[in-house]
Amino acid sequence: MPTPGALTFAAPRRSKPPRHLADLAPADRRTAVAELGERPFRAGQLSTHYFARLADDAAELTDIPKAARGPLCEALLPRLMTPVREMVCDAGTTRKTLWRLFDGATVESVLMRYPDRVTMCVSSQAGCGMNCPFCATGQAGLTRNMSTAEIVEQVLAGARSLARGEVPGGPARVSNVVFMGMGEPLANYKAVVGAVRRLTEPSPAGYGLSQRGVTVSTVGLVPAMHRLIDEGLAVTLAVSLHAPDDELRDELVPVNTRWKVSEVLDAAWRYTETTHRRVSIEYALIKDINDQAWRADLLGRLLRGHLVHVNLIPLNPTPGSKWTASRPQDEREFVRRLEAHGVAVTVRETRGREIDGACGQLAAVEA
Ligand code: SAH
Repeated sequence: MPTPGALTFAAPRRSKPPRHLADLAPADRRTAVAELGERPFRAGQLSTHYFARLADDAAELTDIPKAARGPLCEALLPRLMTPVREMVCDAGTTRKTLWRLFDGATVESVLMRYPDRVTMCVSSQAGCGMNCPFCATGQAGLTRNMSTAEIVEQVLAGARSLARGEVPGGPARVSNVVFMGMGEPLANYKAVVGAVRRLTEPSPAGYGLSQRGVTVSTVGLVPAMHRLIDEGLAVTLAVSLHAPDDELRDELVPVNTRWKVSEVLDAAWRYTETTHRRVSIEYALIKDINDQAWRADLLGRLLRGHLVHVNLIPLNPTPGSKWTASRPQDEREFVRRLEAHGVAVTVRETRGREIDGACGQLAAVEA
């Protein structure tokens, strides 16, 4: 059962999602194929089929003898999720899909097409255990971790509909993946790092995204942030800060009671020093809660001189929340003060609010 109202780190134990090619590193795919009594090179054919040709039908596997197709597909390309509903806005260029997983758990992903790129926002857990009071996902609690392949499949599903020309603007590829859907990616560490590797491995072993095109967003699970630094991946790290002081952050991001603002930022600076990548600080502006001028100044003092960029997110409405977005003049003043400290800042161009697909609105409700 999900556990609303509490911080949950360990996901409930449930039966595992079916094993899939995308769960496995290339060498393990060959072993898996051999265990099925097939020649190991068939693993490469399956990878090409899945990651490069974006096929999802066994009948398209024409380079594999018919008799072998069925067993290989059953064992390594099982159906992982079923689309339940798709909601579309921005003239078809923002698309939110609700997925039902093998055990009935539900998650959402969002495709956002811009003139120069396509971003897939993916979920890493069904629900979330971090309990941030302004986030719709946090209110339902954590159902379970997703597998590597379940995470990857959200991206490939988007890639397939782009390739088929189902998204206005002509055929295209996914260029960016952000782990900003449901769940806390670093609380499902192994599966998320596996998904990053699958998505960034060159085609046809993987989807061939650039590591720079991947953003992992975290509430600030400090030990996992250090572990991520040691992976040697050049992904972008985003930290959901939302308050520069522990007193308020304890309330807005309850995991702050475990790891304080200073520890989270120290881990972020270690990330920038090791990867030379700019860290993104996410800050949802909430009217009269965290948008005061003095908090902008405090944030500016904490961040100045570091390789960092602040992404302000006007608070998106969520059911039952008493909070709203900041007044325009307070937002402008917040930006001005950060800039006065020499800190780079942008206000996020929010997509999908009208389909409950914007930051913090994913709840995967079927009704
Ligand atoms: N658990 C990770 C990944 C989710 S990313 C994390 O928190 O970083 C989703 C981003 O949207 C986070 O920065 C989150 O704090 C923010 N968010 C949550 N609810 C929101 C809301 N109602 N309005 C705007 N942003 C919100």
